[in-house]
Amino acid sequence: SNGKSRNEVKASAFSFDQIGGQERAKEELVEALDFLVKRDKIEKLGIRPLKGILLAGPPGTGKTLLAKAAAHYTDSIYLAASGSEFVEMYVGVGAGRIRDLFKEARTKAKKAGKSSAVIFIDEIEVIGGKRDGGQHREYDQTLNQLLTEMDGIHSGESPRILIIAATNRKEMLDSALLRPGRFDRHIGVDLPDKKGRLHILNIHAANKPIDESVSMERLAEQTYSFSGAQLESVMNEAAIYAMREDRDTVGERHLNMAIDKVMLGEKTDKETSK
Ligand code: ATP
Repeated sequence: SNGKSRNEVKASAFSFDQIGGQERAKEELVEALDFLVKRDKIEKLGIRPLKGILLAGPPGTGKTLLAKAAAHYTDSIYLAASGSEFVEMYVGVGAGRIRDLFKEARTKAKKAGKSSAVIFIDEIEVIGGKRDGGQHREYDQTLNQLLTEMDGIHSGESPRILIIAATNRKEMLDSALLRPGRFDRHIGVDLPDKKGRLHILNIHAANKPIDESVSMERLAEQTYSFSGAQLESVMNEAAIYAMREDRDTVGERHLNMAIDKVMLGEKTDKETSK
């Protein structure tokens, strides 16, 4: 029932090596996070503090995992929210929730004795989408509140807050969000290539008895254009097929059926949403 505290527990144990592929994204993220880790030096050099990182890419590619690993890497408290949580019928409610989120991050970080907090906001385009004309923006209190909170972050303060936002519609974002001092670090999180798929498949096969005859290489080839989330599903569905057949190991057949199922599932999802 309490999703937030569950997320915090997970984040504390989650590291970059549990994320398959995404080597470039991981590298760029770590480089950005070092601004937080080495902040004494950053301050001495008079460099503007890093406040916001934007992760952009298709669904299920590991953006949430990257945010959790970022919290772990920087020894921060982790709080997660989704843009859609702030959409409310009544004016001001969304803005109030943004304020509460930042307050909660500061309180929890202090309580846990941490000097920083990572706030992850998924689906940022829901609150930070382009406004037509631009002059309506001042009435959008939720977005304004987020910008106000970000503008209020100072390099010297403790706990320091870092906002990581995710979107799969980067082109839809309002330019106010992307200005220097706001979400000015952009990291692309794309679908995995074959090597990345192999890595992800191996991560999700680690807790499963896979038949010796199975070629993970071939599996990685067969799953072209699959996301990390889909690859996780393939491994899980295959184990379910093995269980149904009362087998002790997951075989090639189960994996092939699982690939078909995940592909078909995607198709029906798209068709029904049309
Ligand atoms: P969305 O845009 O839909 O929120 P996302 O990019 O945040 O998606 P995650 O929530 O991080 O995706 O991934 C969903 C699940 O898919 C993860 O919990 C994990 O099981 C699996 N997964 C996705 N990407 C990877 C990856 N690179 N390595 C290992 N597992 C992955």
